[in-house]
Amino acid sequence: MSHHQIVIVGGGTAGITVAARLRNANPSLDIAVIEPSQKHYYQPLWTLVGGGMFKPEESGRDEADLIPYGVTWIKSFVDSFTPQSNQLATRDGETISYDYLIVAPGIQLNWDKVKGLKQAVGKEGVCSNYSIDTVASTWESIRNMKQGVALFTQPAGAVKCGGAPQKICYLAEDYFRRNGVRDDIEVIFTTAGPRLFAVDQYREVLEKVAARKGVEPRFRHNLVEIRSESKEAVYRHMDTDEEMVIEYDMIHVTPPMSAPDFVANSELADEAGWVDVDKHTLQHTRFRNVFGIGDASSLPTSKTGAAVRKQAPVLVSNLLSLIKQEPLTASYDGYTSCPVVTGYDSLVLAEFDYSGQPAETFPFVQAKERFSMFLLKKFGLPALYWHGMLRGRA
Ligand SMILES: Cc1cc2nc3c(=O)[nH]c(=O)nc-3n(C[C@H](O)[C@H](O)[C@H](O)COP(=O)(O)OP(=O)(O)OC[C@H]3O[C@@H](n4cnc5c(N)ncnc54)[C@H](O)[C@@H]3O)c2cc1C
Repeated sequence: MSHHQIVIVGGGTAGITVAARLRNANPSLDIAVIEPSQKHYYQPLWTLVGGGMFKPEESGRDEADLIPYGVTWIKSFVDSFTPQSNQLATRDGETISYDYLIVAPGIQLNWDKVKGLKQAVGKEGVCSNYSIDTVASTWESIRNMKQGVALFTQPAGAVKCGGAPQKICYLAEDYFRRNGVRDDIEVIFTTAGPRLFAVDQYREVLEKVAARKGVEPRFRHNLVEIRSESKEAVYRHMDTDEEMVIEYDMIHVTPPMSAPDFVANSELADEAGWVDVDKHTLQHTRFRNVFGIGDASSLPTSKTGAAVRKQAPVLVSNLLSLIKQEPLTASYDGYTSCPVVTGYDSLVLAEFDYSGQPAETFPFVQAKERFSMFLLKKFGLPALYWHGMLRGRA
């Protein structure tokens, strides 16, 4: 059995950011990151990969280059937690003990919750931006589309970056228009939700964007099956339970998501399966030496990397206070951000907090499509991510 003072589960956006911030604050801390993947991906770029602006491989870096100097990398999957004895077990059968635990394994994609999807995704017009293995198929589907129905879906429940399913729909529509095929294509955006966006200021703009582009939103539509041979998407209406079938020529699917099974099945989970943390301090509600951050946490905000950027300094400050046996004073206000791409040169930068009020960065009205914000997404934010955030500097 190995032991580390601080163990971080997941070396994704949150895990690496927290590890870097802890090292910057105190290089003598003994930190281990448990992460199975060889590669780390900047997932927000997948929207632009799906739209043909970047190649999939441009979104990735070697995990080895991102784990901060001096931090131990345990290349394994965590399988189970025993928080009463400050231990966890890996899939390789190793037991690891800790003084402090940070749980950051992200969200789980449940492809098999839609009948026929797992077999169909990535081929013959069924595509998804949600995985490095399928994101190339989005651009292929958009490029090959000449006529018919282009369908875009958003499932029930939490997903990474709630605006991302819409972004690819607007990009595709813009591509069709620029390539002279728009008049022959019906663009439909289906969502299990009741509206296009949760925050009113941005929702109103996005409703106008959809109307201007002739994108037809269909609400309360939950995708339950893909019949790839007949190119049919089967939905259940969220209120009436009625079954509806829409024939497609291409379909971009946002899969249903949930807390990872190994978290949901553990004592660290809340009723919905997420790591049960205080929404301001990020400390676990029952195990005081455990913290949760990012997509796997119960924090009631939209699940984004931008939210992680604001959560990480709070978690680090509170963990350092706990180690010194001082009160936890840092507080997260629920900030999250969603850069909603609306075309190849326009974007609405939505930023808001727990109260659903805009919490904007720039000194101008952000509830508006802007070219400058598109440039920020394409060039500024990736640079901020790789060189600032993951280094614990921004
Ligand atoms: C298409 C798309 C568009 C997006 N657009 C935006 C955007 O515009 N802006 C924005 O801010 N965010 C966006 N996001 C969301 C953003 O990428 C996530 O919110 C962010 O990565 C969450 O960080 P995380 O560390 O919680 O999870 P992740 O970054 O997903 O990291 C989780 C890590 O845990 C590891 N892990 C999983 N299981 C285990 C296990 N059993 N043991 C150990 N390790 C494990 C994984 O390998 C992974 O490295 C987008 C995401 C997608 C997919």
